[in-house]
Amino acid sequence: MYEGIVQDLIDQLGKLPGIGPKSAQRIAFHLLDADEDSVRTLADVLIRVKDTVRFCEVCGNVSAETLCRICSDPRRSDSVICVVEESKDIVAIERIREFKGRYHVLGGAIDPIGGVGPNDLRIAELMKRLGSGETEEVILALDPNVEGEATSSYLSRLLGSMDITVTRLASGLPVGGDLDYADELTLGRAFLGRRSV
Ligand SMILES: [Zn+2]
Repeated sequence: MYEGIVQDLIDQLGKLPGIGPKSAQRIAFHLLDADEDSVRTLADVLIRVKDTVRFCEVCGNVSAETLCRICSDPRRSDSVICVVEESKDIVAIERIREFKGRYHVLGGAIDPIGGVGPNDLRIAELMKRLGSGETEEVILALDPNVEGEATSSYLSRLLGSMDITVTRLASGLPVGGDLDYADELTLGRAFLGRRSV
């Protein structure tokens, strides 16, 4: 344990995903050694990101404007919507340069143990979008883990009665992890090899 504010800093850093106690301590001492300007810049970015970043009104992606870059791009097709858990999954799928449709961010996955049910996700917003009748295919691109599976099954059932093709990514993604853990080649193959459910 360190005294006062230094320990507070280590404790706060340790709450970040993927940062263990050792890393938290290393980052804390890096910040203590860093010059004041760079620490101020970091603090300023942290505050501004919370103040200014919004979520796209249509798809839920992080966005600086009311509509994100993908929703406001007229060259993209409205006929296919790719459903993902988080904005970071959009970045992963955009990297493979195969998809020219739109996205829908659920904001997580169904997780009964963690207390996340369908009503906690942006599923109602998805149904509203599909109600416009422009969508021909919904691609379920959820994480290859238990929660992602549960969410895919739930959505497949929900969309089953609609006149829309529902597809899922082909198997082959590293099981148990996040979608964005997969390398581009693997994700690209899973995307192109998607199958109807
Ligand atoms: Zn959007």
